[in-house]
Amino acid sequence: MNTVFGNDDVTVTPANDKLRQYLSGKFEPKDDTLFTVIPAIYSGKADAQYLRKEAIDGFKMMADEAKKDGVTLKIVSATRNFYSQKAIWEAKWNGTRADWKDVSTKYPAAVDRAKAILRYSSMPGTSRHHWGTDIDINSVEPDYFLTKKGKAEYDWLVKNASRFGFCQPYSPKGADRPNGYEEEKWHWSYMPLSKNFLSQYPTIVSYTDIKGFDGDVAAESLKVIDNYVLGVNVDCK
Ligand SMILES: [Zn+2]
Repeated sequence: MNTVFGNDDVTVTPANDKLRQYLSGKFEPKDDTLFTVIPAIYSGKADAQYLRKEAIDGFKMMADEAKKDGVTLKIVSATRNFYSQKAIWEAKWNGTRADWKDVSTKYPAAVDRAKAILRYSSMPGTSRHHWGTDIDINSVEPDYFLTKKGKAEYDWLVKNASRFGFCQPYSPKGADRPNGYEEEKWHWSYMPLSKNFLSQYPTIVSYTDIKGFDGDVAAESLKVIDNYVLGVNVDCK
């Protein structure tokens, strides 16, 4: 069987190793023909960023439409594989990032430290950014979206993004979404592909795939698959 990611016609079995590696981010987007570089006019980063072709096509249509309403949308983070997520996670875990330097004294126990990082960052192997379907738009700072400009951009997305296939997985926490990351107004997902990936994830990926980084011992005890991967806005499922 040829694996065509995102193709509804393909029946995936747990033995499908290629899909398992893909969903857990163990591949190089730049070497994968399903991925493409985000054109500079849609990117808010100097470095090359990659996304699934279908997702960038959807984003282009959305950003061009937003422009007509005076709203500029730029992608500040796109595909991050297991290894780039590991770098982000471990910088927080080990306190090598300035804003996390006290983390080991504040949270000496692995589970507590992981929980603190998991407010906004995924464990390697569990990020939706692995899939090439998810993007961060304009800023990753909650406060930015309280500014007049940030609020106008977010309001436009809430009103229009679904028309282009995008959904906000990390909606406000509450009765509808009791578990998982804090609200992320910047993170949007291209549903025509990601809906399929999310439904396949729990049968394809297991805790043996969420290993190989500092603090991985906490993955299973915090049930990161149930509580974080699946802890998304019901509209994005
Ligand atoms: Zn994100």
